[in-house]
Amino acid sequence: MALPALSESTLDRLGGEMYDLLYSLFPICRSITGNGVRETLKMAQSCLPMEILEIPSGAEVFDWSVPDEWNIFDAYILDPEGKKIVDFKANNLHVLGYSDPVDAKLGLPELKEHLYTLPELPDAIPYLTSYYKRRWGFCMRHNDFLQLKDGTYTVKIDSTLKPGSLTIGECVLPGEQEDEVLLSCYTCHPSMANDSISGVVLATFLGKLLSQVKRRYTYRIIFIPETIGAITYLSLNKDRVISKTRAGLIVSFVGDSGPFCYKKSRQGNAEIDRVAEHVLSHQKGNYEVRDFYPDSGADERQYCSPGFDLPMGLLTRTYYLRYPEYHTSLDNLSFVSGENLSESLGLYYEILAAFEMNKTYVNQVMFCEPYLSKRNLDSTLGSQKTLDGETRKIKWLLNYCDGKRDLLEIANKISIPIQDLEWAVQELIRTKLIKPEITN
Ligand code: ZN
Repeated sequence: MALPALSESTLDRLGGEMYDLLYSLFPICRSITGNGVRETLKMAQSCLPMEILEIPSGAEVFDWSVPDEWNIFDAYILDPEGKKIVDFKANNLHVLGYSDPVDAKLGLPELKEHLYTLPELPDAIPYLTSYYKRRWGFCMRHNDFLQLKDGTYTVKIDSTLKPGSLTIGECVLPGEQEDEVLLSCYTCHPSMANDSISGVVLATFLGKLLSQVKRRYTYRIIFIPETIGAITYLSLNKDRVISKTRAGLIVSFVGDSGPFCYKKSRQGNAEIDRVAEHVLSHQKGNYEVRDFYPDSGADERQYCSPGFDLPMGLLTRTYYLRYPEYHTSLDNLSFVSGENLSESLGLYYEILAAFEMNKTYVNQVMFCEPYLSKRNLDSTLGSQKTLDGETRKIKWLLNYCDGKRDLLEIANKISIPIQDLEWAVQELIRTKLIKPEITN
């Protein structure tokens, strides 16, 4: 059975609720560790119950180790007249992520060694981090940087970097089968709306929707800091992830208005890759499908590393390197909308619905066509020029349900969405003309 369809009004309502959650999450200063992540997960928990896991700093995870925990309370630069010209409290992107604490007075040339700007986007604050090399720094608008005069500046970063833990959220929704669909989003970006947080919001609401329906597969939704979180999670759950993960999607960049973009798994022709491309080809907008590449991207780089090689793809809207607001303060609340979020939620849900429905069946009457009329599956009036739509589907299904081709392949042959086969499939099961192929 397919998942129930979502109505337009449900999606509209969820779009508003998703934007509200995103609006609340936006101001929090997050990083790969620290209280910002905990606060974020706490807010998501109000919509989707999840377990919170803390992995201590220093834990060995494959070739890496969990870093010290970073927390920040305040940061600013005072100009020679004592005026606050850069203020963490006005925008948390002003601080280089993982900055060491500092409290000093210094001249302009020395200060400039710690300042980062984007000359090509002079009104944007860049987003930069230094997780694995200890330093301190500020990110600022290039136009403000150009105004800096000689003199003595006061810099203050009130942060701590010490042993603590890395925080992960996990929600498991058991299905009829133990095989799992893994949905992964990352929780580590500070105040940007489309990168990172839109994915957290969508994964939360997708989990909520899935929790309310009968599921064939078990769904595991994880909220992790990018890269080190995925490495940590995979290290702790290696055997289960390899043996149980039937498909997965990495959720991010889902709040902007651009066309959808699906980056395939490393396998390239996994069932989830085929399903995603199928659903995208039947939605109304433009879309793009890209082959896997390991040199940039999100956590698919870990999930699709050769040891795991999981059937997991990244589904976004505008391909991230193609929007100039990416990793800047311009990726803000006005860059995303509830409408875009709800459209993205609808697409994710449709992909999962198609994945749930896709099965391989075997025709029980392999030699010549079965006699459909006696089962009320065909018109009794012969020689009609056009077949009724459902009869047509039944004939395609009977021919291609040969135990080798799944419903997706048959839907592609007749250029219809897989969901449109639902009635015909149920009738053929009811009349015992097809049976699901027995899989182990
Ligand atoms: Zn990012």
